[in-house]
Amino acid sequence: MTNLNQLLESNRRWAKETYAADPDFFEKSNLMQTPKYLWIGCSDSRVPATQVTGLKPGEIFEHRNVANLVVHSDLNCLSVIQYAIDVLQVEHILVVGHYGCGGVCAALEGSAHGLVDNWLRHIQDVIGHHEAWMSNQMDFNTRWKALCEFNVIEQVRNIARTTVVGHAWRRGQNLQVHGWIYGINDGIINDLNVTLDGRSNIESAISSSIEKSYSRHACIQPYARYDDWSNYYMSKPNLSQNRHIVCDIGARRHSLTQQNRSQSFLHATPAY
Ligand code: ZN
Repeated sequence: MTNLNQLLESNRRWAKETYAADPDFFEKSNLMQTPKYLWIGCSDSRVPATQVTGLKPGEIFEHRNVANLVVHSDLNCLSVIQYAIDVLQVEHILVVGHYGCGGVCAALEGSAHGLVDNWLRHIQDVIGHHEAWMSNQMDFNTRWKALCEFNVIEQVRNIARTTVVGHAWRRGQNLQVHGWIYGINDGIINDLNVTLDGRSNIESAISSSIEKSYSRHACIQPYARYDDWSNYYMSKPNLSQNRHIVCDIGARRHSLTQQNRSQSFLHATPAY
């Protein structure tokens, strides 16, 4: 069993070190919080907001749940957003997903974990929005990684559609909504380029970000089918050498390797 005294001792040590570095820190914290950021992230213990952004207590207002969802009927999340915008006057709402998200994986697998399955239905709705693209990806990890991004992008749209954000933008409040994704394997946060403000065309920003995500993760365009390799070759004149792709030829899906840019043949292996 974990010795909880370790946590308390560690806390005392942290408080002492923090005071030594900045004797006014706790007095300032005691007066008020003035964060500029609202972080909406996953409950995953590997993604601590202040630590991965190098900020201090008091600088990020946080809401976390399984798979960083913003659900229109979730009064908990909506109340956090409302308080952050109306009272704290945050300037940035950051939806931060992460690769390797267990919630996204469970939704993708359709595996049963109890009550949480109902929560994860919202991610399965996201899968439904991208079904054509997803069904073209043979590799599970590719689908998982892409779905982690799609999920963030969809939550950015959900935030932009809340009445609270709509009212803030209509009265001219300085507020941006962003979609980010954190890599557990390297500690790097990447911007999914879906930043919205009061002047944004929400749907075109969402579509643009989704298209970038499609092309980052897929070897072929969604819905693409090719009758033979020469058609694919002609449609992609800039294919680099030794490019590996997966595509449909005739009625069957093939795993293809182009060995030489100047040659028009390839190795084609039926994938199933
Ligand atoms: Zn997660």
